[in-house]
Amino acid sequence: MRTVQFAREHRLLLAVRGGGHNIAGNAVCEGGLLIDLTPMRSVWVDPARRVARVEPGVTLGEFDKEAQSFGLATPLGINSTTGVAGLTLGGGFGWLSRKFGLAADNLISADVVTAEGKLLQANATENSDLFWALRGGGGNFGVVSSFEFRLHAVGPMVLSGLIVHPFARAKELLAGYRQVAAKAPDELTVWVVLRQAPPLPFLPAEVHGKEILVFAVCYTGEEADGKRALEPLRALGNPIADVIGMQPFAAWQTAFDPLLTSGAYNYWKSHNFAELTDGLLDTLTSHAARLPTPECEIFIGQFGGATNRVAVDATAYPHRNANFVMNVHTRWRDRADAQRSIDWTRKLFAETAPHATGGVYVNFMPEDETDRVSSAYGANYARLAALKAKYDPDNLFRLNQNVQPSVKQTAA
Ligand SMILES: Cc1cc2nc3c(=O)[nH]c(=O)nc-3n(C[C@H](O)[C@H](O)[C@H](O)COP(=O)(O)OP(=O)(O)OC[C@H]3O[C@@H](n4cnc5c(N)ncnc54)[C@H](O)[C@@H]3O)c2cc1C
Repeated sequence: MRTVQFAREHRLLLAVRGGGHNIAGNAVCEGGLLIDLTPMRSVWVDPARRVARVEPGVTLGEFDKEAQSFGLATPLGINSTTGVAGLTLGGGFGWLSRKFGLAADNLISADVVTAEGKLLQANATENSDLFWALRGGGGNFGVVSSFEFRLHAVGPMVLSGLIVHPFARAKELLAGYRQVAAKAPDELTVWVVLRQAPPLPFLPAEVHGKEILVFAVCYTGEEADGKRALEPLRALGNPIADVIGMQPFAAWQTAFDPLLTSGAYNYWKSHNFAELTDGLLDTLTSHAARLPTPECEIFIGQFGGATNRVAVDATAYPHRNANFVMNVHTRWRDRADAQRSIDWTRKLFAETAPHATGGVYVNFMPEDETDRVSSAYGANYARLAALKAKYDPDNLFRLNQNVQPSVKQTAA
């Protein structure tokens, strides 16, 4: 509270760091003040009430570990080193979202230090307008010092893993995936990854470095039901490997960590899609055949289910019509690869745009997409701007995908 007051009084540029994962890099700043929340790492689980109180420096892996000790979880993302704070404030989705909604949909209350330096509690009955804005409005409304989440019974063992296919029949496989996704029960989530094969032990050496199509799968329910639900996906093509089995949910939550280690240069581009049209599949496969570096990947995440059964205006997160999200993770280690990697991404982004909804997930936006901010908040932008004027009229919290206060309130 004092630090926020100090920043406001001295008109300092102010950055707020949760897990430090955001691609736009707004968790740090040059020549300003950084509120680093990473030492605040407590997770307190009440298994009887099925709630968790989580401090803002906690990572997904830390939260999962504590909640899974009781066979509980809330929907989070797919990379265990991501921060709970930034993920939840932007929406937050992963393997459990089709069954239980977004991370933000499972937020019960939050403690917030506002731009005035006051501590408020925000929930359905207290400061409910602030609570609405926190669930998708990013870091625009204050520093959240504590999150309270609803938990659900999950696992602790879940049917999950990868089916790896050669790239040659990618378009046909994606068309099959489209049908599987349309009929999938909420318990089943299948994401697609197009990339070059890493040297995974279950892949033959001759495949390493070659383009592949991967179905990444998680079923949140009984094993036998999951195996039945997976039959249509397993009937597609002739995979190189099928490594789906029962494993601890907390372990599956770390499965992608080795592909997303720190130290690389990153540039991301993202679109939401209501459907995967034939034209989109053509564009995706033609670009995936020309990946600029071995670490680049095109991710297609599956939404739908519970994420879309919430009204657009129920929370600040507006993308309740999206059934798929594309995130192009462009990664390179050598500076010399920068320009052609970025060019490849921008071209893919431009050519897939005609097939997209026009919306974009705020947490996937790079720093240079300031012209897309209104697409991130969609139909909820005007209400967010009015609440920004109420809670942060001088835009102290502006190192984020920034909502401009609609009316500047002047002190009496
Ligand atoms: C490898 C990787 C995988 C990912 N996978 C997923 C995924 O599966 N699903 C998904 O939904 N997202 C995913 N994301 C995106 C992720 O949701 C965002 O990067 C998110 O912003 C990370 O939160 P953080 O706390 O780590 O980030 P930070 O960079 O620390 O914070 C991001 C922004 O949030 C705000 N903020 C952070 N903490 C607070 C706080 N306590 N109070 C107020 N404002 C705050 C600040 O504006 C800050 O600039 C992924 C990101 C990466 C890098």
